Amino acid sequence: MTIQIHAVRTTCPYCGVGCGVKATALPGGGATIEGDIDHAANRGRLCVKGSALGETLDLDSRLLHPAVRQGGALARASWDEALDTVAEGFARIIAEHGPDAVALYVSGQILTEDYYVANKFMKGYVGSANIDTNSRLCMSSAVAGHKRAFGEDVVPGCYEDFELADLIVLVGSNAAWCHPTLFQRIVKAKEARPDLQIVVLDPRRTATCELADLHLALKPGSDVALFNGLLAHLARSDAFDAHYVASHTTGLEAALDVANAGDDVARVCGLDPDDLQAFYDLFARTEKVVTAFSMGVNQSSSGTDKVNAIINCHLATGRIGRPGMGPFSLTGQPNAMGGREVGGLANMLAVHLDLDNAGHRDAVRTFWDAPRIADKPGLKAVDLFRAIEAGSVKAVWIMATNPVVSMPDADQVRRALAACELVVVSDVMASTDLAPYAHVALPALAWGEKDGTVTNSERCISRQRAFLPAPGEARADWRALCDVAQRMGYAGFNFDSAHAIFDEHARLSAWKNDDDGHRRAFRLDPLVGLSRAAYDALQPVQWPLNADGEGTARLFGSGGFSYPDRKARFIATGVRAPANVPCSEFPLVLNTGRLRDQWHTMTRTGKSPRLAGHAAEPFVDLHPHDALLAGVREGELARISSRWGAMVARVAHGGGIARGAAFVPIHWNGQTASDARVGALVNPAVDPVSGEPEFKHTPVRIEPF
Ligand code: SF4
Repeated sequence: MTIQIHAVRTTCPYCGVGCGVKATALPGGGATIEGDIDHAANRGRLCVKGSALGETLDLDSRLLHPAVRQGGALARASWDEALDTVAEGFARIIAEHGPDAVALYVSGQILTEDYYVANKFMKGYVGSANIDTNSRLCMSSAVAGHKRAFGEDVVPGCYEDFELADLIVLVGSNAAWCHPTLFQRIVKAKEARPDLQIVVLDPRRTATCELADLHLALKPGSDVALFNGLLAHLARSDAFDAHYVASHTTGLEAALDVANAGDDVARVCGLDPDDLQAFYDLFARTEKVVTAFSMGVNQSSSGTDKVNAIINCHLATGRIGRPGMGPFSLTGQPNAMGGREVGGLANMLAVHLDLDNAGHRDAVRTFWDAPRIADKPGLKAVDLFRAIEAGSVKAVWIMATNPVVSMPDADQVRRALAACELVVVSDVMASTDLAPYAHVALPALAWGEKDGTVTNSERCISRQRAFLPAPGEARADWRALCDVAQRMGYAGFNFDSAHAIFDEHARLSAWKNDDDGHRRAFRLDPLVGLSRAAYDALQPVQWPLNADGEGTARLFGSGGFSYPDRKARFIATGVRAPANVPCSEFPLVLNTGRLRDQWHTMTRTGKSPRLAGHAAEPFVDLHPHDALLAGVREGELARISSRWGAMVARVAHGGGIARGAAFVPIHWNGQTASDARVGALVNPAVDPVSGEPEFKHTPVRIEPF
């Protein structure tokens, strides 16, 4: 393609806010970046990461040509040689060991069209549901919570609700750093209406707390107890919406029984009883409440219960799907939502259909004209890498993610990949912690070069548009998948564009949607048959679309949930302690998370000196008292150890850490002088429903280095 020298409207590739961006390629390389004033997600605002996008587009360290391992080293190969190696390897292993001996591990960074093809390839043609994604590490508890409550993975509200609310509760969310432009909308709303109350529930005193009227520094992992206590308080305060509960829900009695059986909540949560009471009273008397939650809720061995404990309080008060109110999942990645829509997780099917429903499986198989269909859930991320180490999964194709850095128990991932018969890596970067394990490396298109759609946290589908030429021999991930599928003799992969894939995805969403009384909210009917020009010009739109093609800001205000009886479910959420608790050997609780100016493993944001200025090296934030006990001082190097691994980082104070806790950012990798992958320390405990790992609660020890 030729370079587009006019501004191209596209979408930021970082967080789940999904800001609109106008990018103008520069003749000498790079691009100028500005916020898109016409995109409803950000109305022209960009955070520091988004505004630095133009500084991250150079080709330094890019993987530009396919490579195949020969004699111990990756050697440049043609696409044909690389694709033949992948196709022959996958076909042979499937023939010898069955379809469950191969897997895909993909990413919330890939586009919906890539995700759709990957899911179709595995579930419909290979015949295994062994496709999981780094979104498992991010929001799978929200998916599971939505599905249990609503019968479908649906975010009921929209960003505007944050501006219309009278009370915003932010749970396990440092939105000031992790969802910055949405946080700026909250700041503006607070400036315009100082009576807008902001409550932050977070063990850390983060930057988000600067705006809070009340910060409840609850004990890590005690969220279910707190929201169960709130449900019981709402009952006592006569704050339930009896009509909504009776008309649109079932199961309140059981949920309330469990909530009423809770212990002294303030003690369990480690909170001042007066502060807790103030929050409960505020919630009970305020009609317009948004409860937004993020990784502090999801990344937990009881993450799904936390999500449902929050949703229970909104269902009981009928505060859902109306302006200014509702539970709201703040998604981490730019296209975790798109991946959910196409069913690109090991326990999902496609277009919000159910893998465990024979009718749904048959419908999707028929639509795809597929030779088979996966009939049981595949391996979720943690179990997948265990199965690879154990040898039952013998080939894995990893796309746009680096599990050697980002997975919990990340050294186990190294062992697994070292033992794996065939590791295929699709990436934009040549040298990563993952590259030494690749038998085949496939160069992928990066942001600005690829073309398709993403969906943000408020269900808004936006176009990512290319404005730069494909460098070297880089190809779209969907094209590499189709090329391999065709070599394996699979029909149904003759797509010639992202547009053709999107059209098939839209048709599947509309096909037999309500044939069995299981009418799903996810449907793109009016987008079926879009011309190429119309797809190219597609404006951001929130699904579901009405007959006129207009989006839907809110759902469930008048019920209409996705269960066959159209009723939501209360879930009885019992209190469970985190999977691994501190002990004399590992006395501190490690919490991990993002920094304001970096993204994931820094392959892109690490290129910007401006962004690197925020935090130059890995650090461990400690309470001064705990540093004293450990014999380390601010500015010194310390060794951080858990039962699973160790790393070295510089001691810091000032991050709002409570006594007994430690915080380490997730961004640094094993390419630094000392291996600084915090994932190597993180315990691999997972939520039993969602499979999401417990990144927020690993017992660790700190020692002088
Ligand atoms: Fe990008 Fe998120 Fe920043 Fe918006 S808030 S510019 S989507 S990183």
